[in-house]
Amino acid sequence: MVEYSSRSTGKHSSKLGLLSPEDKRSTGFEDKMSDMIAALVHASEKAAKIARACRLEESLFGLLIEEKKEGEKNKKFVTDFKTLADVLVQEVIKHDVGKQFPGIENNIFGEESNEFMNGLGEKIHVKVCETEQETAKLLSKVLDGNMKAAEVLARSAHQNIVIPDLNTGRIDIPQDRLGVWVDPIDSTFQYIKGVSDSKPNNNIYSCGLQCVTILIGVYDLHSGTPIMGVVNQPFAVQDPETQRWSGQYYWGISYGTTNVCSLGPHSKNGGVSSESNSMPAPQHLKKGSAADLEEERFSAVLSTGETVCVQTLLKEACGDNIHYAAGAGYKSLCVVLGFVDVYVFSEDTTFKWDCCSPHAILKSLGGGMADLKECLRRRQDGNREDCSELVYNVPVQDVKGADRWANKGGLVAYRSHKHLEAVLNLLSGISV
Ligand SMILES: [Mg+2]
Repeated sequence: MVEYSSRSTGKHSSKLGLLSPEDKRSTGFEDKMSDMIAALVHASEKAAKIARACRLEESLFGLLIEEKKEGEKNKKFVTDFKTLADVLVQEVIKHDVGKQFPGIENNIFGEESNEFMNGLGEKIHVKVCETEQETAKLLSKVLDGNMKAAEVLARSAHQNIVIPDLNTGRIDIPQDRLGVWVDPIDSTFQYIKGVSDSKPNNNIYSCGLQCVTILIGVYDLHSGTPIMGVVNQPFAVQDPETQRWSGQYYWGISYGTTNVCSLGPHSKNGGVSSESNSMPAPQHLKKGSAADLEEERFSAVLSTGETVCVQTLLKEACGDNIHYAAGAGYKSLCVVLGFVDVYVFSEDTTFKWDCCSPHAILKSLGGGMADLKECLRRRQDGNREDCSELVYNVPVQDVKGADRWANKGGLVAYRSHKHLEAVLNLLSGISV
């Protein structure tokens, strides 16, 4: 049985002494995990400011929209600006978290390399330097001498941000077990397109800046299970008068029997139902009676790239409760917030950095993220008891580049096991 607490009450579910005093001495790391989640939230807030600055500051926004004009890619720095925003955000997260937890920067992973080639053919490694001036100088090299843009970016990379106390309580996890997946700007297409006036349907935005998320997920290097995560939505709400955006962040920790989340059972934000506060044993629903069918009713968010077969099956089961949205991070957030029961994706085009952070939050709420095809395969082999959760430490064999870290078997993000079961029942016939 899992216990919960929320940020609003500031209570902690379980204070664990998971490490012996000897262990603690050997890791040199005591009671600092609450500082770790604070550091991740802090880094995500800074990253969100950079993401907003790139859209709001005139000198930077110009570079962003330039990129949209196909066929006008006259200079390399223009085509690279999107990637620069991505890489800078990733480097800020590495720099800030690494400063507070020395050594962890070596275990922070993401899609982007920090290597750049500028218009002059110079190879530059983007990083956050000691001082704002030094960072600006380095960035100006990538931006082919555009000092104004470089200064604005450097200012946001070095600014001081204050976040409120998260009230996580004491959590002991040895730091040398931790790896971090970062997706600096998930849904970059929506970010570049920058649509600000899209309207939500049942709280869900199918496209627009609301679908952009910054994802930081911590996992256990040995077991591959997610431990803590932050999902930051830099463009959550736009002020109708000033047109300025403000963001929102969500976090969760799930380790051993400790589960803490920024969304408490009585949270007003997102309507997390009290139903999700217990973790029921997996139920095996049988198709048949009207009551059973009622049991199997659920709502889902899908990618427009989902296969016709899976879309058809889900539409039959969910009726009007099917939604479409951009961004794996955002779709997962819709499950975290209780806007839908599940996010199903049968293709292999999401990656570890897309899933680790929302997975940790879902786990802290009693849910998870399952490997869709592995679950279906096990059921086809007659094993209905075990469902296979995504893990974050094992690359796909015999492939190169980003595909090594693809979620090969697709995924189901869920808050309640009964909804995972319903999805697996429904899709049990698809080829895996
Ligand atoms: Mg992504």
